[in-house]
Amino acid sequence: MIDYDGLRFAKTSQINESESRLISSLMDAMQDERIPTCDIRYEWVICSDCRGEGRNSLHLGVITQDSWNEWDDDKRDDYMSGFYDRSCTACSGTGKVQEMDEESLPEAVQEYIRNYREDAYESASASYYERLAGC
Ligand SMILES: [Zn+2]
Repeated sequence: MIDYDGLRFAKTSQINESESRLISSLMDAMQDERIPTCDIRYEWVICSDCRGEGRNSLHLGVITQDSWNEWDDDKRDDYMSGFYDRSCTACSGTGKVQEMDEESLPEAVQEYIRNYREDAYESASASYYERLAGC
């Protein structure tokens, strides 16, 4: 069953760390009146890691042709039937995750989010290159 009805406030436990930093940045900007105050809504979307199944075998990594050939038929059957699947970590096995409904936000807020993400991306790649250079 897929829960499509939800436009609702997210539970903080279902938001990842970078997303919660974005939220607190948005809250600050609203308080300082740099962007209009508005509700931030979330909607349920199907988890892309497990395609909504709540389980996957990503923990096994990629099954190479070599290891596939080494397996006997029983092990191949087990694999195909999901015997090795584990609960999906991205969605805690629920098959769905919450994503910000950005299109419902005022244009000024959407722009703020775009700028925020660009900055976050730039500082992430800057520190990546600093690490490469051994700083
Ligand atoms: Zn999942």
